[in-house]
Amino acid sequence: MTVIRDQADAAAVRGGRALSVDGLSVRYGGVTAAQDVSFTIQPGQSLGIIGANGAGKTSTLKALMGLVPRTVRSIQFGDRDLTRVPGRNMVRHGIGYVPEGRHVFPGLPVEKNLLLGAYTRRWNGPTLETLDEVYELFPILREMRGRLAGALSGGQQQMLAIGRALMSTPQLMLLDEPSMGLSPKLVSEIVVVLKRLKERGLSILLVEQNAQLTFEVTTECLVMENGAVAMTGTSAALRQDPQVRKIYLGL
Ligand code: ATP
Repeated sequence: MTVIRDQADAAAVRGGRALSVDGLSVRYGGVTAAQDVSFTIQPGQSLGIIGANGAGKTSTLKALMGLVPRTVRSIQFGDRDLTRVPGRNMVRHGIGYVPEGRHVFPGLPVEKNLLLGAYTRRWNGPTLETLDEVYELFPILREMRGRLAGALSGGQQQMLAIGRALMSTPQLMLLDEPSMGLSPKLVSEIVVVLKRLKERGLSILLVEQNAQLTFEVTTECLVMENGAVAMTGTSAALRQDPQVRKIYLGL
């Protein structure tokens, strides 16, 4: 099955995997970056994590991907127990990751960057089909397929980072601050892209300082403060919460 699912595939995804994270903590020396974070994402659901600078959002995502030392009671992905799975294998279990700051390979062409995202797969027919689907989602990447990634604008590099993660055909995508450093116009384009991924049945975990964007594309959210989950709720309810409006929406 290919990653960019259409509506017909969404039904299949509903029978897919839920991610349940229980008791995730991260410490850097004496600094507690995340403390006892727990959440569940149902198949096809989109969950946001918002919070100020330094609240522990990135550390939570990195810990989930096994990229920083962590303690955790359990990580379940459907019937798979990922609690002890090393970070390098998370992608093989259907979890895609778009890191903060994109981290594309600037000296390689766009297409090579995308193909490297398929490192868990053979570069054969189905992989090329996925490449074609990524190009359908991001026509600008097709246009620039031969250009060096370093020559792309910030927004185009963000599209490339998302496209690269899609090349592994994930069921769940973790995105760390995809709006960072982008103009309001490009942020709107990211919103459109995230909505399209959702429509196609992908589960999404979105970490953002931009609460407005997060409420627009997610159904539920966690608010992190000082490494801990301070509030949880539906995105619709949180965007009406007076405290959230004041602190995170500046209203
Ligand atoms: P931002 O929105 O700025 O990315 P964040 O909510 O993602 O912030 P984290 O980057 O997870 O927050 O940082 C949480 C805390 O951990 C902060 O106090 C930060 O200074 C600290 N921290 C993050 N990375 C490290 C590290 N490698 N070594 C030591 N402390 C770190």
